[in-house]
Amino acid sequence: MATTVLIYYDFRMLGHNPHGWDPGRPEWTDAVKAMIELQYPNSNLDTYRHPERPERLTAIVDSLLLEPIDGVRWMLLAPASATQLERAHDAAYVAHVESLDGQSGWLAKDTTAVSPGSVTAARLAAGAGIGAIEAIAAGEARRAFCIVRPPGHHAPADRARGFCLYNNLAVTAAHARKALGYDRVMIWDLDMHHGNGTEAIFYDDPNVLVVDSHCAAPFYPGSGLLAETGAGAGAGYNLNVPLPVGSGNATLQAVFEQVVRPAARAFRPEILLISTGFDCHYLDMVCAMDETGYAAVTQSICALADELCDGRLVMMLEGGYNAKALADSAYAVIEALAGNPVSALNVLPDDPGAAAVADAATFHAKAIGALAPGQAGDANTEN
Ligand SMILES: [Zn+2]
Repeated sequence: MATTVLIYYDFRMLGHNPHGWDPGRPEWTDAVKAMIELQYPNSNLDTYRHPERPERLTAIVDSLLLEPIDGVRWMLLAPASATQLERAHDAAYVAHVESLDGQSGWLAKDTTAVSPGSVTAARLAAGAGIGAIEAIAAGEARRAFCIVRPPGHHAPADRARGFCLYNNLAVTAAHARKALGYDRVMIWDLDMHHGNGTEAIFYDDPNVLVVDSHCAAPFYPGSGLLAETGAGAGAGYNLNVPLPVGSGNATLQAVFEQVVRPAARAFRPEILLISTGFDCHYLDMVCAMDETGYAAVTQSICALADELCDGRLVMMLEGGYNAKALADSAYAVIEALAGNPVSALNVLPDDPGAAAVADAATFHAKAIGALAPGQAGDANTEN
């Protein structure tokens, strides 16, 4: 019998639809034009469309509707409240984003932008994770996948960045801590880009362990070095695994086996949260993973959650900009969450990420060995 997988999605997230280059808009300055040309050197500004577009989600949803997976349960979700958002973001920043409701504009030179429906979409994306952990805490199921946009992991507490308005997974983790009373929350960010926002929000927090594997700097956003290991009470609770361009499925599995699993076994999280970007897919940017790699690692993550935290697991969509790669990868991941057997792993003859993972595991070995199993009794529950 299939395992229940809660799916959180709301069509209003399609209302976030920033336009491409529009010379008729005065706020789209030469600086923005230069940034687009820098980041997308092959783009033609006349036909340029913002890469973080609604079809990213409809591609995934269509694949799930076309061939339904046993065990999938579609859930309604509520937008995150200001109080919930302010657990991860500054109140002034939340007020700034809310003030943009109904408007269009660019928020950062890295082409982060809003359209009139973006603020509603952002509230819903952050609310998805809260709905998921509330349902899991209530015992409705153990596994959830949130099909959301705008993504979240580049947004720190005080600004929009990298297509991200609210940090959906950070809001979720903060809710787990402050509203549900979990003492130990573990995040693995496996998006191709470093989750700089998530790192910053929990950098001094020993109750939220963050592991982040990503394409190494100078790739966007240029952070995520091995040496960024946390600060203050959170020193040793931030583990980066920078990877070379071209890394494939064996690398992803090695990150799990050599860093994520040993860190989890030392930390003993009460819930696992996965920032799930599919932009490492070979059809997308500069890495070489595929849906067999994402499915296999999902199976491994499920086993780890079953071993350590009664199976409690939330996977949250982050990046991924190729519709076919998104649809195939999310489908394979959700099939694995539902307990289906996974396809044979496609492995590169010479995966370039192997040495980088071994280096990171060696670098972090002492910190992993010293990971205290959270600070029990320090949950600071608000209600
Ligand atoms: Zn990404």
